[in-house]
Amino acid sequence: MNTIDSYIFLRKQILVMIGLSLIPGLGYIFLGWINNVAAPALIWYTLNLVVSFGGYRLYKEYHPGRMNTLETKQWYARVSTFFLLSFSLWTLIFVLYVTEERGHLNYIAIFTQIGASVVAATILASDKRLFIATLLFLLIPMAIFFALIGEFYGYILSIFSLVLLGVLFYAANSSYTLLEKSRFQATHDYLTGLFNRRYFISFLEQKVRNLLYYEQYSFMMLLDLDHFKTINDSLGHDIGDRLLQVVSSRIQQQIGEDELLARLGGDEFVIVSHEMDNREEALNAAMVLAKTLLSVLKETFIIDTHHLYISASIGVDVIDYNSTSAHHIIKEADIAMYEVKEQGRNGIILFNDALAKRVETHLQIERHLHIALQNREISLAYQPQFNKDEKVIGCEVLARWRNTTLGRVPPSKFIPVAEQTGLIIELGNYILEESFKTFASWSEKGVVLEQFSINISVRQLFHGTFVEEVERLTQKLLTPELIDKLVFEITETVLVNDIERVVDIMQRLAHLNINFSMDDFGTGYSSLSYLKAMPVSELKIDQSFVANLGKGSSDQAMIVTILNMAKIFDLKVVAEGVETEGQLNFLRQNNCHIFQGYYFAKPLTQIDFEHFYTSNNG
Ligand code: C2E
Ligand code: CA
Ligand code: CA
Repeated sequence: MNTIDSYIFLRKQILVMIGLSLIPGLGYIFLGWINNVAAPALIWYTLNLVVSFGGYRLYKEYHPGRMNTLETKQWYARVSTFFLLSFSLWTLIFVLYVTEERGHLNYIAIFTQIGASVVAATILASDKRLFIATLLFLLIPMAIFFALIGEFYGYILSIFSLVLLGVLFYAANSSYTLLEKSRFQATHDYLTGLFNRRYFISFLEQKVRNLLYYEQYSFMMLLDLDHFKTINDSLGHDIGDRLLQVVSSRIQQQIGEDELLARLGGDEFVIVSHEMDNREEALNAAMVLAKTLLSVLKETFIIDTHHLYISASIGVDVIDYNSTSAHHIIKEADIAMYEVKEQGRNGIILFNDALAKRVETHLQIERHLHIALQNREISLAYQPQFNKDEKVIGCEVLARWRNTTLGRVPPSKFIPVAEQTGLIIELGNYILEESFKTFASWSEKGVVLEQFSINISVRQLFHGTFVEEVERLTQKLLTPELIDKLVFEITETVLVNDIERVVDIMQRLAHLNINFSMDDFGTGYSSLSYLKAMPVSELKIDQSFVANLGKGSSDQAMIVTILNMAKIFDLKVVAEGVETEGQLNFLRQNNCHIFQGYYFAKPLTQIDFEHFYTSNNG
């Protein structure tokens, strides 16, 4: 295996080789000179200088962070040649002096040859082909020399040379095996045997350089299992680990030999493709593979006695010669993968500019939202609600945010960010407190409503101290009659998760006399059984249904159904998004009780609401 690590190891040995060639080499010049046989040594030393100089240049040339695969391969070939040449020079000096009895230079020649063999077995241990070749190069000439003496002791020494060859080969091979093992451990994941994150990143960096050099394309795919944590938590880590192993082998079976599969940790896998000549090719290949992976992962996993069903979310990013860094690519694939999770998991999304922009906006909102509360940038608007006689009987509190840099940010943009970051807790409490103050002051000013509705996000509902906070604020700011008129609007779509917990909290709030309205009704999965289990007193027909009224769609039937159902369950119904008289008439004819929408009024400031109320109900 040739990895960056083995190249770095080999590169270090270049300097060792140069040192061990040039310094002991001086000994030959000195001994040759005092024995009047310096000429061969001088020529040899000059050759040695040339080769060492070449070696030094190779040492300097190596930059793992800047070389592509081809350049690295070429460099490696030249380094191999350098070592072969350097050791061949030791064989040359051996041949030149082993018959030279003046000054016992022959002994020196034999000794240096043995020394060179030991050096070769040590410094070339990381490279099997190289150490086998050099050991043969060094020790076979010596064995032949001894054999050619033609006497008994010569044969013995010849055999000894071969034994030495065997021993050194054994030693080098043992180091090699150890090195390979530790290299494997450093670059692989212990659980699945796939490449690990560290190796993957260096691989991807190398890939980026190659794509730049050849102007080619690849893709990177980030695959994250859906709800893996549930399996881990409910069945234990042993089962979770075994599942990961089977998942990796299923993925492995689908990818080609020149593709890289790594486990980034947890239940996250990554695939990098081979190079392709154009973007479309890379895209198609990515989509084909991603679809195949989704379908093979959907097949049942049988582990022990458990039948497990999983799915995955896949983010894809095409890598090309414009890609800047490994981290950048991983981030993009990550964004795409998260988008899949957002959209309900079990799917494939390709990273694109729109996505990048969304993420950027999201980040900006997140940064500014943090200080929005302190800067008093959040205000409240109140949208009137009307009865059949078009009198104001209630209102819905809606948050408004105006920021100096971002301008007006609609709640549909910042509420989800607040939910994700947890800021909704602080924000939600602020909205409760401010709106309660308004409600209390209205009652003093004679603005009398039947109901006062506030949107509550489920994240807020789930927060440990929410019920206590509501109790504290209602006690502090509202009279019992006003508390009775409070309505918390909960969005239907989010209720599916953890329904029992929601019901439990709703019950506790109902004890405080809070009423509930099911917001965006009809868009989610509410079943009758939910409605029965929950202390809900009102349904809000989603505005999309109202908007389609009179357009001959099935939405009309939907509204009629909701209104009929509400009658059976004895629930109030609010139609929101009423914009035209036609919509109003239809709703009125079908027994809808409460109306809200631009047809009557937009969300108003506190003061405007007061004026509106007085002129409307006065
Ligand atoms: P929602 O609860 O469905 O609120 C109704 C949205 O419809 C409001 O948008 C309102 O301005 C708009 N609307 C009212 N009448 C009409 C109409 O006739 N036509 C049209 N096209 N739209 C109308 P807004 O204020 O932008 O709020 C959007 C969403 O943000 C809300 O949807 C709600 O889910 C969330 N939100 C707003 N304020 C809060 C808040 O204080 N807390 C929480 N948790 N969520 C909030
Ligand atoms: Ca609402
Ligand atoms: Ca709504």
